[in-house]
Amino acid sequence: MFWRKKRNETPERKATMTSPISIHPTVDHGIKPGSADFKGGTLVCKCAENSVTVAIDSQSAHNHACGCTKCWKPAGAQFSVVSVVPSDKVRVTANGDKLKIVDPSATIRRHACTGCGVHMFGPVENKASPFYGLSFIHTELSPQQGWSAPEFAAFVSSIIEAGADPAQMGAVRGRLKEIGLEPYDCLLFWCYCEREERMRRAESHRSRQRWHGRFE
Ligand SMILES: [Zn+2]
Ligand SMILES: [Zn+2]
Repeated sequence: MFWRKKRNETPERKATMTSPISIHPTVDHGIKPGSADFKGGTLVCKCAENSVTVAIDSQSAHNHACGCTKCWKPAGAQFSVVSVVPSDKVRVTANGDKLKIVDPSATIRRHACTGCGVHMFGPVENKASPFYGLSFIHTELSPQQGWSAPEFAAFVSSIIEAGADPAQMGAVRGRLKEIGLEPYDCLLFWCYCEREERMRRAESHRSRQRWHGRFE
């Protein structure tokens, strides 16, 4: 498998396995790179029978760890891992009658399974939102491999609201950086803006250096 081969090639990934701080089971032992040619898969809820299944006919985008109190997290995880796909690529394929919207007034209309509590998908239907037309999903619910990898962490301080020890936040941020998930505290959309600004500044710094280099 593509990501396994890649992971074995980078020995520093192994060093991350010993941290006592758990972020999320899918990133605690290193991040699996996505596959460029991946076309989607099926999300399956945690019910032992009559599970809800949702077909996603698209690769995921903007995958990230989220510390907010609203996103679904597996038992014991401090963060959720959540990404987006176009809402028209989301199809409920079994037991859709078990789904209920967690909070109809929220921007993300998270559809949860009433049997197991897992959030299957959360479309944004508010046209004023920068995420309009997209649905939030948790790709860990899919047995297929190749979904896009998480790239950063949002709402990091919000884990305190869920019971995390404030004294541990420095260690949590350090661990996120170690895994390769730059920690942010802002709203998701502003995280993107801040990231872009940071990358733009880094690029202009590099081009300045290249420019100066010509005269030195
Ligand atoms: Zn379920
Ligand atoms: Zn969240």
